[in-house]
Amino acid sequence: MKYIGAHVSASGGVENAPLNAKEIGANAFALFTKNQRQWVSPPISSASIKAFRENCEKYGFLPEMILPHDSYLINLGHPEIEGLEKSRAAFLDEMQRCEQLGLKLLNFHPGSHLQKVEMGKCLATIAESINFVLDRTQGVTAVLENTAGQGSNVGHVFEQLAEIIDQVEDKSRVGVCIDTCHTFTAGYDLRDKDEYERTWQKFDEAIGFKYLRGIHLNDSKKELGSRVDRHDNVGKGLIGIEMFRLIMQDSRLDNLPIILETPEEDLWAEEIRLLRSFA
Ligand SMILES: [Zn+2]
Ligand SMILES: [Zn+2]
Repeated sequence: MKYIGAHVSASGGVENAPLNAKEIGANAFALFTKNQRQWVSPPISSASIKAFRENCEKYGFLPEMILPHDSYLINLGHPEIEGLEKSRAAFLDEMQRCEQLGLKLLNFHPGSHLQKVEMGKCLATIAESINFVLDRTQGVTAVLENTAGQGSNVGHVFEQLAEIIDQVEDKSRVGVCIDTCHTFTAGYDLRDKDEYERTWQKFDEAIGFKYLRGIHLNDSKKELGSRVDRHDNVGKGLIGIEMFRLIMQDSRLDNLPIILETPEEDLWAEEIRLLRSFA
């Protein structure tokens, strides 16, 4: 079965996210559990936690089909101790929020070397950060998202994600989310059936489908290999509609949250309907 949704607003309280997801016909969704542009947010109130759990249950959203996203400020591969400690504390707080909400996954961008350390060192720091938070939490999987490789962001090459996973102690609580826009602009083609299959084969060889926990489903405003992260709406960008059809017909992607992060939110309901018609 395909679980499709979008990164919906949680403004006014996390309990509103499942309502917003229901409204667009989703059976999966993503959300921020705190303000994504601030280091510190107040804890989630017990009333909010209760309402969130009730709304998810009422509308049939399974915890495994909800893919929260962490704050953009966090850099778990930070080359300097102060930035690293701040990032680890903030990520731990995000994991604990997920625990409170009964969620199973937390999606995050691996990190950036900021041109200050070599790649291998940055990947090892990210793995250590994951070990740090997994030691202090239970039941939530840390989900590494592949990046477009913009600036000094790491994780645009599948082997880099594999190198992080290799150094994570509890492999049952680490996974990967593949963002189709990032994949394409990182240089992996997805535009036709052959290229699509070749890219997933590279993924499977480097990382393995057993680590796949979610999909961010986006078209791209930028070209193949441009290493620029600009999402586009379904079928409107440079990847094109064929990939969306292939994804919906790919049984390897059953029972995973498939999340739209496309820029025009008004189109989400229509995009979800279109995607379901391909499945
Ligand atoms: Zn994404
Ligand atoms: Zn992106």
